Amino acid sequence: MVRNPRYDRRQTLHPFFTTSARTAGVILSKIVIRIDAVTRILFEDYSATEVRLFYALGYAAIGVFCYGVYVQIRKYRRGAALQMGSDLWQRIRWMIATVLSHRSIARRDAAAGGAHRLIFYGFVLLFIGTATITLEYDILEPLFGVRFWYGNFYLVFSLVLDMAGVALLAGLVYMMYRRGWMRLPKLDYARPDRTPGDPDFDRPQYRREDWAFLWILVIIGGTGYVLEAARLVWLQARADVWDYRWWSAVGALLAHGLRSAGLDASTAGSLRHGLWWFHGVVALALIALIPFTKVKHIFTAAGSLLVRDPLASQRLRTVPQTQQQVGAKTITDFTWKQLLNLDACTKCGRCHEACPARAVGAPLSPRDVILSLREFANATLESGALPAAATLDVHGKGPGQIAMETLWSCRTCMACVEICPVAVEHIPIIVQMRRKLVEEGAMDPLLTKTLQTIHKTGNSFGESKRKRGAWSKSLPHPVKDVRKEPVDVLWFVGDYASFDPRNQKVSQLFATLLQEAGVDFGILYDGESNAGNDVRRVGEEGLYEVLATANVAALSAASFKSVVTTDPHSYNTIRNEYPDFGGHYEIEHYTTLVKRLFDAGRLKVTHRLNYRVTFHDPCHLGRFNKGYDAPRDLLALLGCELVEMGRCRANSFCCGAGGGRIWIPDPVGSEKPAQNRMKEAAAIDGLQVYVVSCPKDLTMFEDALKTTGNEGKFVVKELIELIREAVAPPRDEEASA
Ligand code: SF4
Ligand code: SF4
Repeated sequence: MVRNPRYDRRQTLHPFFTTSARTAGVILSKIVIRIDAVTRILFEDYSATEVRLFYALGYAAIGVFCYGVYVQIRKYRRGAALQMGSDLWQRIRWMIATVLSHRSIARRDAAAGGAHRLIFYGFVLLFIGTATITLEYDILEPLFGVRFWYGNFYLVFSLVLDMAGVALLAGLVYMMYRRGWMRLPKLDYARPDRTPGDPDFDRPQYRREDWAFLWILVIIGGTGYVLEAARLVWLQARADVWDYRWWSAVGALLAHGLRSAGLDASTAGSLRHGLWWFHGVVALALIALIPFTKVKHIFTAAGSLLVRDPLASQRLRTVPQTQQQVGAKTITDFTWKQLLNLDACTKCGRCHEACPARAVGAPLSPRDVILSLREFANATLESGALPAAATLDVHGKGPGQIAMETLWSCRTCMACVEICPVAVEHIPIIVQMRRKLVEEGAMDPLLTKTLQTIHKTGNSFGESKRKRGAWSKSLPHPVKDVRKEPVDVLWFVGDYASFDPRNQKVSQLFATLLQEAGVDFGILYDGESNAGNDVRRVGEEGLYEVLATANVAALSAASFKSVVTTDPHSYNTIRNEYPDFGGHYEIEHYTTLVKRLFDAGRLKVTHRLNYRVTFHDPCHLGRFNKGYDAPRDLLALLGCELVEMGRCRANSFCCGAGGGRIWIPDPVGSEKPAQNRMKEAAAIDGLQVYVVSCPKDLTMFEDALKTTGNEGKFVVKELIELIREAVAPPRDEEASA
């Protein structure tokens, strides 16, 4: 027969290609062609009794799970009511995006974020795989005759699930490495508010729970692979199993290993049978235990993210007029959302690590506050009947209770809330408990006196109201009184900038800058009262309401376009909390206003400073209101070389003055947060100026500079002082040089 060369391409191809094409064709046919026989081996070789038993166990596990969910929901419902906003879809979108991206876990700990991603996606894929098998086997096929777990779908899914198992195990191994070998301090459960010997000191039950959780998942994942391998060896004679083994790559590798070790088909069958039960029972036990163990964070963390308040620390909630009690005395005084918050904590220790109070040895760890309250809630609210109110008191030194010293150690700096990956809101919880202490007078005598002083004089210095604007008297040009004439910009000065002699000098410089830039501004003089930010965070809600109402009234009576303040504490409360008292203002911190004045050419740098500086982000400007860039832009404009400290921007370290702590003496001999911070700054080579942009920071850090022995090495300055220095005409000797 004569071949038509056009159709006989085989003759012209190299044998390598023909062989390869044949092989590829075989492989392709196995991929593309529907292979009906290839499917998931489920209950093969099991007696009907065994299958029934497995289903009974499955239903029991689901029953226990549902009961656990009921107990948890009942617990949350025992908390105080809280109305959520109407932005549900927006919340759901944000929560899903956060969970899927893992952005909150990966922040400042990329390795932990990566490992958790592997665990999360591995677990989710394996769960989806198991769920779809159940869906087909128990619902779709018996009821509608629909099957999809066979052929190509099955093979591809097998491969995906095999890889998901690898991801899960890799993530778990890394988490074990972190806990077991890296021994990160934040994962150490020793409590700063308890001493060794106290039964509640380092809570070994937490370590056991963590390890049990990791090991259970490793066991489920590991036995899954051995089970797969045993199945392959058991059914090695069947082409629909063995020929497709590499679609379960890890199992296939193990199967080859087991065969080489001498495992025969019959023994593999027995192994598979026993292991199947072990694997299944452990997995069902895990499902049943979810609501009662750390595993529940799968749901509670997502729930906590869903109900997160993005302004939880910046804007404390007002107390409704109808509410009898202002603070939290019992565990049921917390809202259902706060009780959910407690359950969301994964004990990751990030807040513990970030807390400035904990860092200087104060008896406070935000993590432990949350965990103690969680234990307290579980012990009191999970039982059928609600115990008597007396046993629900969360204040004290008993198990799960929070001591007064712990609550007063907080600086309300927001470092804990900012870093928590699951949106636990520590500050409102702590402030609510402080409100109760304030109500009972359980506070430091100096704090009591300061609050009385503020109540009497409207300022924390106990000065006459009439002296509030006295610092402006020595200026060459008078500062307008906004109560008498309209202005463009109302400057809310704040207590420290008005009365503290060191800060008064800064206020005079700022006024001069505004005058030179031609800004039409004025102040409220004695119409201004303490803004109340710290009074509120101390827990003196009644006094805060008085102050906020008085300031809103004074501001409302004045005529201005916008508000500026040099005090980040005042900035925060006027911006975020005064709207609840009817005060809606366009307000900014001075750094953004001055930056605009430079941009518009109304201020000019006359000589560059060339200082090597570092910048301290004030909590209420940075973390609270994201004012990170303007101060840095200004430093660049002034010609300063900025060297960042390790803890900067969102991770900045508190000066220790916030939350009313400036009015509470630190224990004698203990390190202060400002001193801790000074040591960090002192480690910067050739540092000349430690720059702040908050009156309280100036006071705290100038003091810490002396007490840490760094005086003479570098200086602490308000950014305003540097700006003034750079825009003022050079001194004579500099000009002639
Ligand atoms: S607000 Fe600051 S001081 Fe208070 S617990 Fe949180 S991190 Fe610690
Ligand atoms: S409260 Fe948040 S940051 Fe603190 S340990 Fe718990 S999960 Fe971690």
